Amino acid sequence: MSLTDSQLAFDREHIWHPYTNLKNPTPVFGVESAEGVYLNLTNGQKVVDGMASWWSAIHGYNHPFLNQAIEKQTKKMSHVMFGGLTHEPAIKLSQTLVNITAAKLDCVFLADSGSVAVEVALKMALQFWYSQARPEKNKFLTVRNGYHGDTFGAMSVCDPENGMHAMFAGVLPSHIFVDAPGCKDDDSWNDEDIAQLKSTVAARHTEIAAIILEPIVQGAGGMRVYAPEYLRQVRQICDEYGVLLILDEIATGFGRTGSLFAYEQAQIVPDILCLGKAITGGYMSLAATLTTQNVAQTISRFGGGNLMHGPTFMGNPLACAIANASIELLLASPWQKNVLAIETQLEAELRPLESLPSVHEVRVKGAVGVVEMVQTLDMHTIQPRLVELGVWIRPFGKLLYIMPAYCMPSDELSKLTRAMLTIAEESI
Ligand SMILES: *Cc1c(COP(=O)(O)O)cnc(C)c1O
Repeated sequence: MSLTDSQLAFDREHIWHPYTNLKNPTPVFGVESAEGVYLNLTNGQKVVDGMASWWSAIHGYNHPFLNQAIEKQTKKMSHVMFGGLTHEPAIKLSQTLVNITAAKLDCVFLADSGSVAVEVALKMALQFWYSQARPEKNKFLTVRNGYHGDTFGAMSVCDPENGMHAMFAGVLPSHIFVDAPGCKDDDSWNDEDIAQLKSTVAARHTEIAAIILEPIVQGAGGMRVYAPEYLRQVRQICDEYGVLLILDEIATGFGRTGSLFAYEQAQIVPDILCLGKAITGGYMSLAATLTTQNVAQTISRFGGGNLMHGPTFMGNPLACAIANASIELLLASPWQKNVLAIETQLEAELRPLESLPSVHEVRVKGAVGVVEMVQTLDMHTIQPRLVELGVWIRPFGKLLYIMPAYCMPSDELSKLTRAMLTIAEESI
């Protein structure tokens, strides 16, 4: 079935897509259905999906086990309020999250989107210091090139310039930014990389509530990879100066970088952890913020002791039931082997693109492959060209990148990397 011209015209004229312009929208493609690693477009084309719908569809689309989990849960209840009520899907999910994350992460807030999970993390950190009569510790420190979401608190800790939110600078609270990590791995580690963060915390720790970072891979703020040693040192600095550490694993969580959570690669534990995106295998919006008993108990000592957040769709039973199924499916699968195989193949097939004059740099980490171009890619022409090449890849700025489902067959992965090569060659 195809979309009619008038439906497509309505879409162009009336519906915003993420970060788009209603006057001169970039092309959009209708999707009829999705199955495994393929999207069936309404124009009749079947394309290989390189995006996993922005890090989330880690098992591929239309998975029978996840479909069954939805069916079973809808027959019981799709939603009930979480105020004063509780249910098995939420309890089971929270138990699982507590079990699969570091031992100290013990308390769970079920949020309805990644941005909300970040807002909750920021609130937890502020309330932790209010409870100790330290309200002046109300600033967040972060690194440039970060991305933490689109709501106002989250925006205030995104990269202030390169990001998508520069125009709001005047209304956002001003937090503290240091340069993004530069060392790509522990072999190339240089202590200079952390010097600015260290001296800034030393000078300003009395006003800093927490440091917030995306561990190992920075996502939408630049798709950059950095050394675990950076995180080990951040953890030490936080402990030394009495600053909380928030890790935003909304993009990196659930195996994407080769470990179940990216912080494991640095052998550290955050005080607060944000999860989202892949948590339901890409089926529904759900996220979670975890913290330690210490943070939770401290928050509980101040004022009414309540953590001041509670969205309408908090702990949605349908979303929790799918998350339970998705995590079960992940842990029962050879995900480490699959992610490693993708990493090896991306390294072999993308690294050679670095010799092209149109390519600035290639970065590979786990099941993430990034080709940073020298010039900004023109979405009006590149997006249809990629579809013509039989793939779904959505570049932004100078970044042509993929983060496929872990079950991506190797010949289909090659189709994705070949399309990236073609774009890089055609951009010369
Ligand atoms: C996507 C993302 C968010 C925001 O999540 P939404 O579900 O889009 O609100 C926050 N942090 C990181 C690291 C992300 O990748």
